[in-house]
Amino acid sequence: MTAYVFAPPITPAVPVEGETAVFPVRRILCVGRNYAAHRREMGGDDRDPPFFFAKPADAVVSPGGAVPYPPRTANLHHEIELVVALNAGGKDIPVEAALACVYGYAVGVDLTRRDLQNAAKDKGQPWDASKGFDASAPISAIRQWTGEAPQGRIAISVNGQVRQDAVVADMIWNVAEIISEASKLWTLAPGDLIFTGTPEGVGPLVPGDVVAGEVEGVGQLQFTVTP
Ligand code: MN
Repeated sequence: MTAYVFAPPITPAVPVEGETAVFPVRRILCVGRNYAAHRREMGGDDRDPPFFFAKPADAVVSPGGAVPYPPRTANLHHEIELVVALNAGGKDIPVEAALACVYGYAVGVDLTRRDLQNAAKDKGQPWDASKGFDASAPISAIRQWTGEAPQGRIAISVNGQVRQDAVVADMIWNVAEIISEASKLWTLAPGDLIFTGTPEGVGPLVPGDVVAGEVEGVGQLQFTVTP
């Protein structure tokens, strides 16, 4: 048994519906600009290829956890997303084999310090500080799932007002294609989560906001932004 110089960090985990065992998180990959209308609202071009960024595994916030307003921003944005949870992986996974790697799906919010992201874009700097900060990945329980990926409504409301309302079927790159593309860049493995991009309607959150997200057939996510 390996001796550590101090106790190793606890593995971040996400609850699974109907199970007492939890899903251990290895990595979090995220797809940028995967819905045409959001791609346009962010100033992109529909022909842009997909791209990925990452959040640390310990950015997940399980249901009921605190989502504090992060420091060093005045423009925290919500991005409602379908999240894919993998229990198998590999490299260069063909599209036809990709859905066999899926353990289930969850509802997630890709919280974004938009002001820092815009500054990073202007300077050609990385997005880690704008995307991968503490508690930047609130997530619902995972629903186990086999077969075709969810296609239905994806929506988020803030204090009861609907902000984003679209359908997963509008994704430019579907779940199987995303897994396949990601596996060309990284060796995927059990425990990986992939945030699949957000539709149009992203906008700011402030302390005290009550956020409620859903993906039809997958579940709901609710949290309050604390000071
Ligand atoms: Mn996103």
